[in-house]
Amino acid sequence: MAKHWDAIVVGAGPGGSTAAYDMAAAGADVLLLDRARFPRDKPCGGGVLVSALRLLPYSLDPVTEQTITSFRVRYKRRREFEHHYHEPLAIMTQRSRLDAYMVERAVEAGAEFRDASAVRSIDGTTIRLANGDAHEGQAIVAADGANGVVRRGLGLPRLRGAVALEGNAARSEQPAGARWSDAVGLELGSMPGGYGWVFPKGDHCNVGLGGFPSAAPTLRDELSRYASGESFDGGSLTELRGHHLPLRDPDSALVRDRVAFVGDAAGLIDPLSGEGIGNAIRSGQLAAETALELVSGEASDMLAYRGRVEEEIEPELRVARQLQALFHQCPWPYVQLLRRSDRFWTAFCRIVRGESTYSQLQGRLGPGRVVVDAAASFAERRAGRAAAWQTSS
Ligand SMILES: Cc1cc2nc3c(=O)[nH]c(=O)nc-3n(C[C@H](O)[C@H](O)[C@H](O)COP(=O)(O)OP(=O)(O)OC[C@H]3O[C@@H](n4cnc5c(N)ncnc54)[C@H](O)[C@@H]3O)c2cc1C
Repeated sequence: MAKHWDAIVVGAGPGGSTAAYDMAAAGADVLLLDRARFPRDKPCGGGVLVSALRLLPYSLDPVTEQTITSFRVRYKRRREFEHHYHEPLAIMTQRSRLDAYMVERAVEAGAEFRDASAVRSIDGTTIRLANGDAHEGQAIVAADGANGVVRRGLGLPRLRGAVALEGNAARSEQPAGARWSDAVGLELGSMPGGYGWVFPKGDHCNVGLGGFPSAAPTLRDELSRYASGESFDGGSLTELRGHHLPLRDPDSALVRDRVAFVGDAAGLIDPLSGEGIGNAIRSGQLAAETALELVSGEASDMLAYRGRVEEEIEPELRVARQLQALFHQCPWPYVQLLRRSDRFWTAFCRIVRGESTYSQLQGRLGPGRVVVDAAASFAERRAGRAAAWQTSS
Protein backbone atom coordinates (compact mmCIF):
# COMPACT_ATOMS: atom_id res chain seq x y z
CA MET A 1 0.00 0.00 0.00
CA ALA A 2 1.43 3.34 -1.03
CA LYS A 3 1.46 6.16 1.49
CA HIS A 4 -0.21 9.36 0.15
CA TRP A 5 1.35 12.85 0.17
CA ASP A 6 0.38 16.20 -1.31
CA ALA A 7 3.80 16.34 -2.95
CA ILE A 8 6.90 14.17 -3.18
CA VAL A 9 10.27 15.74 -3.94
CA VAL A 10 12.96 13.42 -5.29
CA GLY A 11 16.44 14.78 -4.51
CA ALA A 12 17.50 17.13 -1.71
CA GLY A 13 19.94 19.45 -3.49
CA PRO A 14 19.16 23.18 -3.59
CA GLY A 15 16.30 22.65 -6.10
CA GLY A 16 14.54 19.94 -4.11
CA SER A 17 14.95 21.44 -0.67
CA THR A 18 13.70 24.83 -1.91
CA ALA A 19 10.60 23.24 -3.47
CA ALA A 20 9.99 21.25 -0.27
CA TYR A 21 10.48 24.39 1.87
CA ASP A 22 7.95 26.47 -0.09
CA MET A 23 5.31 23.75 -0.25
CA ALA A 24 5.65 22.79 3.42
CA ALA A 25 5.64 26.45 4.51
CA ALA A 26 2.32 26.83 2.64
CA GLY A 27 0.87 23.93 4.63
CA ALA A 28 1.28 21.04 2.15
CA ASP A 29 2.12 17.52 3.28
CA VAL A 30 5.57 17.02 1.68
CA LEU A 31 7.98 14.08 1.51
CA LEU A 32 11.58 14.95 0.57
CA LEU A 33 13.70 11.96 -0.47
CA ASP A 34 17.42 11.60 -1.14
CA ARG A 35 19.41 8.48 -1.94
CA ALA A 36 22.48 9.77 -0.04
CA ARG A 37 23.01 9.73 3.68
CA PHE A 38 23.18 13.42 4.78
CA PRO A 39 25.30 15.44 5.14
CA ARG A 40 26.63 14.45 1.72
CA ASP A 41 29.06 16.17 -0.60
CA LYS A 42 28.60 16.77 -4.32
CA PRO A 43 31.02 17.75 -7.09
CA CYS A 44 30.55 21.53 -7.16
CA GLY A 45 32.62 24.68 -6.74
CA GLY A 46 30.25 25.75 -3.97
CA GLY A 47 30.04 29.33 -5.24
CA VAL A 48 26.63 30.92 -4.67
CA LEU A 49 26.07 34.17 -6.54
CA VAL A 50 24.35 37.07 -4.81
CA SER A 51 21.60 36.71 -7.46
CA ALA A 52 20.89 33.24 -5.99
CA LEU A 53 21.16 34.39 -2.35
CA ARG A 54 18.48 36.99 -3.04
CA LEU A 55 16.00 34.26 -4.00
CA LEU A 56 16.09 32.57 -0.61
CA PRO A 57 13.79 33.50 2.27
CA TYR A 58 16.62 32.85 4.76
CA SER A 59 20.28 33.82 5.04
CA LEU A 60 23.18 31.50 4.17
CA ASP A 61 25.48 33.27 6.66
CA PRO A 62 25.78 30.15 8.89
CA VAL A 63 27.37 28.17 6.00
CA THR A 64 29.32 31.00 4.34
CA GLU A 65 33.10 30.48 4.38
CA GLN A 66 34.21 33.46 2.25
CA THR A 67 32.53 36.49 0.73
CA ILE A 68 33.76 37.41 -2.74
CA THR A 69 34.19 40.97 -4.00
CA SER A 70 36.96 40.49 -6.61
CA PHE A 71 37.66 38.46 -9.75
CA ARG A 72 41.25 37.62 -10.74
CA VAL A 73 41.31 36.69 -14.42
CA ARG A 74 43.93 34.94 -16.52
CA TYR A 75 43.75 34.56 -20.27
CA LYS A 76 45.43 31.44 -21.68
CA ARG A 77 47.44 31.08 -18.45
CA ARG A 78 49.04 34.52 -18.89
CA ARG A 79 48.09 38.16 -18.46
CA GLU A 80 46.41 38.35 -15.12
CA PHE A 81 44.19 41.23 -14.11
CA GLU A 82 42.00 41.78 -11.09
CA HIS A 83 38.77 43.73 -10.69
CA HIS A 84 37.16 44.67 -7.42
CA TYR A 85 33.52 45.55 -6.81
CA HIS A 86 32.27 47.67 -3.94
CA GLU A 87 29.66 45.11 -2.90
CA PRO A 88 29.64 41.30 -2.48
CA LEU A 89 29.34 39.28 -5.68
CA ALA A 90 29.12 35.74 -4.31
CA ILE A 91 29.67 33.62 -1.24
CA MET A 92 31.72 30.46 -1.04
CA THR A 93 30.43 27.45 0.82
CA GLN A 94 30.79 23.66 0.71
CA ARG A 95 27.95 21.60 -0.67
CA SER A 96 28.00 19.19 2.28
CA ARG A 97 27.21 22.16 4.54
CA LEU A 98 24.93 24.11 2.18
CA ASP A 99 22.67 21.21 1.23
CA ALA A 100 22.33 19.92 4.81
CA TYR A 101 21.49 23.46 5.93
CA MET A 102 18.83 23.90 3.22
CA VAL A 103 17.28 20.54 4.10
CA GLU A 104 17.11 21.62 7.76
CA ARG A 105 15.18 24.73 6.68
CA ALA A 106 12.72 22.56 4.70
CA VAL A 107 12.23 20.26 7.70
CA GLU A 108 11.72 23.27 9.96
CA ALA A 109 9.02 24.44 7.55
CA GLY A 110 7.28 21.07 7.97
CA ALA A 111 8.61 18.76 5.24
CA GLU A 112 9.40 15.14 6.12
CA PHE A 113 12.94 14.28 5.03
CA ARG A 114 14.18 10.74 4.45
CA ASP A 115 17.82 10.35 3.47
CA ALA A 116 19.42 7.06 2.39
CA SER A 117 16.15 6.55 0.46
CA ALA A 118 16.97 5.90 -3.17
CA VAL A 119 14.10 6.11 -5.63
CA ARG A 120 14.17 3.10 -7.95
CA SER A 121 11.23 3.78 -10.25
CA ILE A 122 8.25 5.97 -11.01
CA ASP A 123 4.89 4.91 -12.37
CA GLY A 124 2.56 7.88 -12.92
CA THR A 125 2.75 9.58 -9.53
CA THR A 126 3.79 6.50 -7.59
CA ILE A 127 7.39 6.44 -6.42
CA ARG A 128 9.06 3.18 -5.47
CA LEU A 129 12.11 3.14 -3.24
CA ALA A 130 15.01 0.70 -3.31
CA ASN A 131 13.78 -0.75 0.02
CA GLY A 132 10.42 -1.64 -1.58
CA ASP A 133 8.36 1.17 0.02
CA ALA A 134 5.89 2.96 -2.25
CA HIS A 135 4.71 6.57 -1.98
CA GLU A 136 2.03 8.34 -3.98
CA GLY A 137 2.04 12.12 -4.46
CA GLN A 138 -0.53 14.42 -6.04
CA ALA A 139 2.46 16.29 -7.44
CA ILE A 140 6.02 15.06 -7.99
CA VAL A 141 9.02 17.40 -8.12
CA ALA A 142 11.95 15.67 -9.81
CA ALA A 143 15.07 17.33 -8.38
CA ASP A 144 17.32 14.28 -8.72
CA GLY A 145 20.12 16.00 -10.62
CA ALA A 146 21.77 15.27 -13.95
CA ASN A 147 19.88 12.61 -15.95
CA GLY A 148 18.28 11.17 -12.81
CA VAL A 149 16.03 8.18 -12.27
CA VAL A 150 12.75 10.09 -12.77
CA ARG A 151 13.84 11.40 -16.16
CA ARG A 152 14.96 7.93 -17.22
CA GLY A 153 11.87 6.28 -15.72
CA LEU A 154 9.58 8.50 -17.80
CA GLY A 155 11.55 7.66 -20.95
CA LEU A 156 12.88 11.18 -21.54
CA PRO A 157 16.10 11.55 -23.57
CA ARG A 158 19.40 12.32 -21.85
CA LEU A 159 20.35 15.97 -21.62
CA ARG A 160 23.54 16.99 -23.40
CA GLY A 161 26.06 18.93 -21.40
CA ALA A 162 29.55 19.88 -20.35
CA VAL A 163 32.04 18.05 -18.15
CA ALA A 164 34.02 19.33 -15.18
CA LEU A 165 36.71 18.11 -12.81
CA GLU A 166 37.55 19.68 -9.47
CA GLY A 167 39.75 19.08 -6.44
CA ASN A 168 40.84 20.73 -3.20
CA ALA A 169 44.14 22.28 -2.15
CA ALA A 170 44.70 22.90 1.56
CA ARG A 171 45.36 26.63 2.07
CA SER A 172 47.78 26.18 4.94
CA GLU A 173 50.07 23.84 2.99
CA GLN A 174 50.09 25.84 -0.23
CA PRO A 175 52.22 28.93 -0.89
CA ALA A 176 49.32 30.18 -3.01
CA GLY A 177 46.73 29.71 -0.27
CA ALA A 178 47.23 33.15 1.24
CA ARG A 179 46.60 34.88 -2.11
CA TRP A 180 42.97 33.92 -2.04
CA SER A 181 40.56 35.47 0.39
CA ASP A 182 37.94 37.75 -1.14
CA ALA A 183 38.86 36.92 -4.78
CA VAL A 184 37.95 34.06 -7.09
CA GLY A 185 40.27 33.12 -9.94
CA LEU A 186 39.11 32.49 -13.49
CA GLU A 187 41.19 30.98 -16.30
CA LEU A 188 39.66 31.91 -19.66
CA GLY A 189 40.47 30.94 -23.21
CA SER A 190 42.36 27.70 -22.62
CA MET A 191 39.48 25.21 -22.15
CA PRO A 192 37.28 24.71 -25.22
CA GLY A 193 33.69 25.35 -24.10
CA GLY A 194 34.55 26.17 -20.51
CA TYR A 195 36.97 27.73 -18.04
CA GLY A 196 39.04 27.12 -14.94
CA TRP A 197 38.41 28.42 -11.44
CA VAL A 198 39.94 28.87 -8.00
CA PHE A 199 37.28 29.22 -5.30
CA PRO A 200 38.60 29.98 -1.79
CA LYS A 201 36.97 28.22 1.19
CA GLY A 202 37.69 28.34 4.91
CA ASP A 203 40.65 25.93 5.04
CA HIS A 204 41.18 25.07 1.36
CA CYS A 205 40.76 26.31 -2.20
CA ASN A 206 38.57 24.46 -4.67
CA VAL A 207 40.33 24.32 -8.06
CA GLY A 208 38.45 23.12 -11.13
CA LEU A 209 38.10 23.05 -14.90
CA GLY A 210 35.13 22.49 -17.17
CA GLY A 211 34.54 22.30 -20.90
CA PHE A 212 33.02 20.45 -23.86
CA PRO A 213 32.58 16.65 -23.31
CA SER A 214 35.45 16.06 -25.75
CA ALA A 215 37.75 17.64 -23.11
CA ALA A 216 37.04 14.83 -20.63
CA PRO A 217 40.16 12.69 -21.35
CA THR A 218 42.49 15.67 -20.87
CA LEU A 219 40.80 17.23 -17.82
CA ARG A 220 43.04 15.59 -15.22
CA ASP A 221 46.30 16.75 -16.83
CA GLU A 222 44.88 20.18 -17.61
CA LEU A 223 43.69 20.60 -14.03
CA SER A 224 47.08 19.67 -12.64
CA ARG A 225 48.77 22.18 -15.01
CA TYR A 226 46.28 24.91 -14.18
CA ALA A 227 46.63 24.37 -10.41
CA SER A 228 50.43 24.47 -10.70
CA GLY A 229 50.16 27.70 -12.72
CA GLU A 230 48.24 29.18 -9.79
CA SER A 231 51.14 28.10 -7.48
CA PHE A 232 49.32 25.15 -5.94
CA ASP A 233 50.89 21.72 -6.00
CA GLY A 234 48.95 20.40 -9.00
CA GLY A 235 49.88 16.80 -8.24
CA SER A 236 48.51 16.82 -4.71
CA LEU A 237 44.95 18.04 -5.15
CA THR A 238 42.66 15.94 -2.97
CA GLU A 239 39.08 14.73 -3.42
CA LEU A 240 39.28 14.92 -7.22
CA ARG A 241 35.81 14.52 -8.69
CA GLY A 242 34.43 14.76 -12.19
CA HIS A 243 30.84 15.35 -13.13
CA HIS A 244 28.47 16.10 -15.97
CA LEU A 245 26.76 19.52 -16.23
CA PRO A 246 23.40 18.98 -17.95
CA LEU A 247 22.30 21.73 -20.34
CA ARG A 248 18.78 21.86 -21.74
CA ASP A 249 17.90 22.51 -25.35
CA PRO A 250 15.05 25.01 -25.76
CA ASP A 251 12.56 22.18 -26.33
CA SER A 252 13.73 19.75 -23.59
CA ALA A 253 10.82 18.52 -21.47
CA LEU A 254 10.14 20.37 -18.20
CA VAL A 255 6.91 18.61 -17.22
CA ARG A 256 5.18 15.28 -17.67
CA ASP A 257 1.58 15.51 -16.47
CA ARG A 258 1.95 15.84 -12.66
CA VAL A 259 5.75 15.60 -12.62
CA ALA A 260 7.91 18.77 -12.86
CA PHE A 261 11.68 18.68 -13.44
CA VAL A 262 13.74 21.30 -11.63
CA GLY A 263 17.40 22.34 -11.48
CA ASP A 264 19.87 19.92 -13.06
CA ALA A 265 17.08 17.39 -13.67
CA ALA A 266 15.75 19.95 -16.17
CA GLY A 267 19.20 21.02 -17.42
CA LEU A 268 18.80 24.59 -16.13
CA ILE A 269 22.52 25.29 -15.59
CA ASP A 270 23.66 28.58 -17.11
CA PRO A 271 25.66 27.42 -20.17
CA LEU A 272 27.97 30.45 -20.03
CA SER A 273 28.99 30.35 -16.37
CA GLY A 274 28.18 26.75 -15.37
CA GLU A 275 26.30 28.22 -12.42
CA GLY A 276 23.32 26.05 -11.51
CA ILE A 277 22.40 26.71 -7.88
CA GLY A 278 20.43 29.89 -8.68
CA ASN A 279 18.22 28.28 -11.32
CA ALA A 280 17.81 25.16 -9.17
CA ILE A 281 16.43 27.37 -6.39
CA ARG A 282 14.24 29.45 -8.71
CA SER A 283 12.83 26.45 -10.60
CA GLY A 284 12.17 24.75 -7.24
CA GLN A 285 10.12 27.79 -6.26
CA LEU A 286 8.20 27.80 -9.56
CA ALA A 287 7.49 24.06 -9.24
CA ALA A 288 6.28 24.57 -5.65
CA GLU A 289 3.95 27.38 -6.76
CA THR A 290 2.46 25.11 -9.44
CA ALA A 291 2.21 22.07 -7.15
CA LEU A 292 0.31 24.15 -4.57
CA GLU A 293 -2.23 25.08 -7.28
CA LEU A 294 -2.61 21.38 -8.08
CA VAL A 295 -3.04 20.42 -4.42
CA SER A 296 -5.65 23.16 -3.87
CA GLY A 297 -7.64 21.99 -6.90
CA GLU A 298 -6.94 25.13 -8.99
CA ALA A 299 -5.04 23.01 -11.54
CA SER A 300 -5.22 19.39 -12.60
CA ASP A 301 -1.57 18.95 -13.68
CA MET A 302 1.83 20.66 -13.49
CA LEU A 303 1.76 22.11 -17.02
CA ALA A 304 1.70 25.72 -15.77
CA TYR A 305 5.26 25.12 -14.50
CA ARG A 306 6.51 24.90 -18.07
CA GLY A 307 5.01 28.33 -18.87
CA ARG A 308 6.62 29.82 -15.79
CA VAL A 309 10.09 28.47 -16.65
CA GLU A 310 9.69 29.50 -20.29
CA GLU A 311 8.72 33.00 -19.27
CA GLU A 312 11.31 33.58 -16.58
CA ILE A 313 14.31 31.25 -16.96
CA GLU A 314 14.45 30.18 -20.61
CA PRO A 315 14.93 33.74 -22.02
CA GLU A 316 18.03 34.06 -19.81
CA LEU A 317 19.32 30.66 -20.92
CA ARG A 318 18.75 31.64 -24.55
CA VAL A 319 20.98 34.73 -24.23
CA ALA A 320 23.52 32.74 -22.18
CA ARG A 321 23.71 30.14 -25.00
CA GLN A 322 24.39 32.93 -27.50
CA LEU A 323 27.04 34.52 -25.27
CA GLN A 324 28.64 31.13 -24.65
CA ALA A 325 28.85 30.44 -28.39
CA LEU A 326 30.27 33.91 -29.14
CA PHE A 327 32.76 33.75 -26.29
CA HIS A 328 34.14 30.34 -27.21
CA GLN A 329 34.33 31.22 -30.89
CA CYS A 330 36.75 34.03 -30.08
CA PRO A 331 37.34 34.72 -26.37
CA TRP A 332 40.00 37.41 -26.63
CA PRO A 333 37.75 40.46 -27.36
CA TYR A 334 35.45 39.59 -24.46
CA VAL A 335 38.36 39.21 -22.06
CA GLN A 336 39.63 42.61 -23.25
CA LEU A 337 36.19 44.12 -22.72
CA LEU A 338 36.12 42.73 -19.19
CA ARG A 339 39.64 44.00 -18.59
CA ARG A 340 39.38 47.50 -20.03
CA SER A 341 35.74 48.56 -19.84
CA ASP A 342 34.40 49.72 -16.47
CA ARG A 343 30.91 49.73 -17.96
CA PHE A 344 31.20 46.08 -19.00
CA TRP A 345 32.63 45.04 -15.61
CA THR A 346 29.82 46.91 -13.81
CA ALA A 347 27.20 45.33 -16.10
CA PHE A 348 28.72 41.90 -15.34
CA CYS A 349 28.64 42.57 -11.56
CA ARG A 350 25.03 43.75 -11.71
CA ILE A 351 24.01 40.49 -13.42
CA VAL A 352 25.95 38.44 -10.86
CA ARG A 353 24.19 40.36 -8.09
CA GLY A 354 20.72 39.86 -9.63
CA GLU A 355 20.27 43.60 -10.24
CA SER A 356 20.16 43.12 -14.00
CA THR A 357 19.74 40.22 -16.44
CA TYR A 358 21.37 38.94 -19.62
CA SER A 359 18.18 39.90 -21.47
CA GLN A 360 18.41 43.49 -20.21
CA LEU A 361 22.06 43.62 -21.25
CA GLN A 362 21.08 42.38 -24.69
CA GLY A 363 18.22 44.90 -24.86
CA ARG A 364 20.73 47.74 -24.31
CA LEU A 365 22.40 46.88 -27.63
CA GLY A 366 19.52 48.57 -29.50
CA PRO A 367 19.67 48.05 -33.29
CA GLY A 368 23.15 46.47 -32.86
CA ARG A 369 21.33 43.46 -31.47
CA VAL A 370 20.53 42.25 -35.01
CA VAL A 371 24.25 41.96 -35.78
CA VAL A 372 25.00 40.26 -32.46
CA ASP A 373 22.06 37.83 -32.98
CA ALA A 374 23.37 36.90 -36.44
CA ALA A 375 26.95 36.42 -35.17
CA ALA A 376 25.67 34.37 -32.24
CA SER A 377 23.53 32.11 -34.38
CA PHE A 378 26.52 31.53 -36.71
CA ALA A 379 28.71 30.75 -33.67
CA GLU A 380 26.02 28.47 -32.18
CA ARG A 381 25.75 26.53 -35.46
CA ARG A 382 29.55 26.16 -35.58
CA ALA A 383 29.66 25.09 -31.93
CA GLY A 384 26.83 22.62 -32.60
CA ARG A 385 28.70 21.15 -35.58
CA ALA A 386 31.92 20.96 -33.55
CA ALA A 387 30.11 19.25 -30.66
CA ALA A 388 28.46 16.77 -33.05
CA TRP A 389 31.83 16.05 -34.68
CA GLN A 390 33.50 15.69 -31.26
CA THR A 391 30.77 13.33 -30.03
CA SER A 392 30.95 11.13 -33.10
CA SER A 393 34.75 10.97 -33.33
C1 LIG B 1 32.30 20.39 -10.95
C2 LIG B 1 31.10 21.28 -10.82
C3 LIG B 1 31.23 22.55 -10.25
C4 LIG B 1 30.09 23.36 -10.08
N1 LIG B 1 30.23 24.56 -9.46
C5 LIG B 1 29.14 25.35 -9.26
C6 LIG B 1 29.23 26.55 -8.52
O1 LIG B 1 30.30 26.90 -7.98
N2 LIG B 1 28.12 27.31 -8.36
C7 LIG B 1 26.92 26.95 -8.90
O2 LIG B 1 25.93 27.70 -8.76
N3 LIG B 1 26.78 25.77 -9.58
C8 LIG B 1 27.85 24.97 -9.74
N4 LIG B 1 27.70 23.76 -10.38
C9 LIG B 1 26.36 23.33 -10.78
C10 LIG B 1 25.57 22.89 -9.52
O3 LIG B 1 26.34 21.94 -8.79
C11 LIG B 1 24.21 22.26 -9.89
O4 LIG B 1 23.61 23.03 -10.90
C12 LIG B 1 23.28 22.18 -8.69
O5 LIG B 1 23.79 21.30 -7.72
C13 LIG B 1 21.88 21.69 -9.11
O6 LIG B 1 21.09 21.49 -7.97
P1 LIG B 1 19.92 20.41 -8.00
O7 LIG B 1 19.19 20.58 -6.71
O8 LIG B 1 19.16 20.53 -9.26
O9 LIG B 1 20.62 18.99 -8.09
P2 LIG B 1 21.74 18.32 -7.19
O10 LIG B 1 22.41 19.32 -6.35
O11 LIG B 1 22.56 17.49 -8.11
O12 LIG B 1 20.95 17.35 -6.21
C14 LIG B 1 20.35 16.17 -6.69
C15 LIG B 1 20.07 15.28 -5.50
O13 LIG B 1 19.29 14.17 -5.95
C16 LIG B 1 19.72 13.02 -5.26
N5 LIG B 1 19.33 11.85 -6.05
C17 LIG B 1 19.84 11.46 -7.24
N6 LIG B 1 19.25 10.30 -7.63
C18 LIG B 1 18.36 9.98 -6.66
C19 LIG B 1 17.47 8.89 -6.49
N7 LIG B 1 17.40 7.89 -7.37
N8 LIG B 1 16.71 8.86 -5.37
C20 LIG B 1 16.77 9.85 -4.45
N9 LIG B 1 17.62 10.91 -4.56
C21 LIG B 1 18.39 10.97 -5.65
C22 LIG B 1 21.23 13.19 -5.15
O14 LIG B 1 21.76 12.41 -4.09
C23 LIG B 1 21.33 14.70 -4.87
O15 LIG B 1 21.36 14.97 -3.49
C24 LIG B 1 28.81 22.92 -10.55
C25 LIG B 1 28.68 21.66 -11.12
C26 LIG B 1 29.81 20.83 -11.24
C27 LIG B 1 29.64 19.47 -11.84
